[in-house]
Amino acid sequence: MTEDQELGITESKEYNTGEWYAEVVQKANLASYAPEGMSGFIVTRPRAYEVWERIQAHLDGLFKDTGVRNAYFPLFIPESYLEREKDIVEGFDPEVAWVERAGNDELEERLAVRPTSESIITPYISQWVRSHRDLPLRVNQWASVVRWEATETKPFFRTKEFLWQEGHTAHATREDAWAETMRRLDQYEATYEDLLAMPVLRGAKPEHDKFPGADTTTTVEALMPDGKSVQGATSHHLGTSFADAFDITYTDEDEASQIAHTTSWGLSWRAIGALIMTHSDEQGLVLPPALAPEQVVIVPIWQADTKDEVLAYAEGIRADLDDAGIRVELDDRDERNPGFKFNEWELKGVPLRVEIGPNEAVDGSATLVHRPDGESTEVDRDGITETVESHFDEVYAKLYAAAERNLESNIREADDRAEILGTLGQHGGYVKAPWCGDEACETEIKDQIAAEIVLVPLDDPDAEIHHGEACAVCGGGATETAYYAKSY
Ligand code: AMP
Repeated sequence: MTEDQELGITESKEYNTGEWYAEVVQKANLASYAPEGMSGFIVTRPRAYEVWERIQAHLDGLFKDTGVRNAYFPLFIPESYLEREKDIVEGFDPEVAWVERAGNDELEERLAVRPTSESIITPYISQWVRSHRDLPLRVNQWASVVRWEATETKPFFRTKEFLWQEGHTAHATREDAWAETMRRLDQYEATYEDLLAMPVLRGAKPEHDKFPGADTTTTVEALMPDGKSVQGATSHHLGTSFADAFDITYTDEDEASQIAHTTSWGLSWRAIGALIMTHSDEQGLVLPPALAPEQVVIVPIWQADTKDEVLAYAEGIRADLDDAGIRVELDDRDERNPGFKFNEWELKGVPLRVEIGPNEAVDGSATLVHRPDGESTEVDRDGITETVESHFDEVYAKLYAAAERNLESNIREADDRAEILGTLGQHGGYVKAPWCGDEACETEIKDQIAAEIVLVPLDDPDAEIHHGEACAVCGGGATETAYYAKSY
């Protein structure tokens, strides 16, 4: 049997999350592992690539509506460029892949395979910006980057090469750059919520965990069903560190020379990993309708004497849905029985099944079945397109509500070290605790339970609650609220 034929998930989502995830990825035909010797790389199969294209189209639309234009920069960055911003070199050094030869010749200067592109994009922004009239300047590129990750890789979540978008902007003032940082974080949050049906928490990374060179790194974090947090996308306020290193200056209204303020922000195909992990189950992949390669599968159920009638009726429904722009498949394979077809399309994550039997054909009806929970409804043939669309909304709402329940019931508070460790050990999820801001306190927790501070709230009124209380770890004065979690 090939991997395409062997149906059915055998691993438990609850007890064996990692193996279950790998099985879903493989059996739903989403990705394959790259050849031996290239561990950490994946082959993205068409069904996953289609999901990526839909995420891409959605985000690209949001960006373009808010002043961003796409561009493309080279895959390589000369070593001398990478070295100009010291934090970037230090931050990414262990993960950079280098090109040293081309054919038989040694290169005069080593070229880094981009781990992120600030060091090649910023020098061009510097050339393009002359006066305040050139600002803000915003470019985005859809590309792949390479980071030779030392930690364990996992398809989509953490790969050595990954697809992403990286936005890079320059602004006249610090406030403008901050507004841009928040605008992109809002768009990431909205994309997770509206498209991926996943609620997220927004916040800032602690000082010691910022993007190299950033003033502030902001993040959206999603809680996975095994209680671990995943960093869903990041938006960085870079202050003037890159503008200083690459000399982005502009003349203001008074002809005085000023330094620009920059931002960068990225969302990768890790979003696909988080999506699969969040909604899928032991029957296989579950996808929100907006992202599914096939939104509806029609499974006709016939006996020899009803076949023609059932198929003709099913084909009429298929044509109506197709005309309305719905991605629909009519599974009229003779050699497979309906039960087999149900299982196969469930495994592949089709959000809505339409069952058509002789009764439906006679009554002028159809039976709709929701993928997430198997709920089944008999509906009229008349107005089928609108009905299907409203069921898409219901499926989306079910997925969002389940993910929201998981998130809300897994944010707990703790006041001391034992409580942080005990709660994380027992339940996972997020533990909110007062924090003094010292990395050493996080390290103490990390050493004991491999959890870290994944965010501090940005604009949550609760953030003030712990001000002035004792840091849960060292007892010193707390300045912020830390969200501790194990993370991917
Ligand atoms: P960064 O430039 O480090 O802020 O990364 C931007 C986003 O890319 C992160 O928020 C992650 O969601 C994602 N990301 C980082 N490293 C990887 C990786 N190795 N594989 C997949 N996605 C990644």
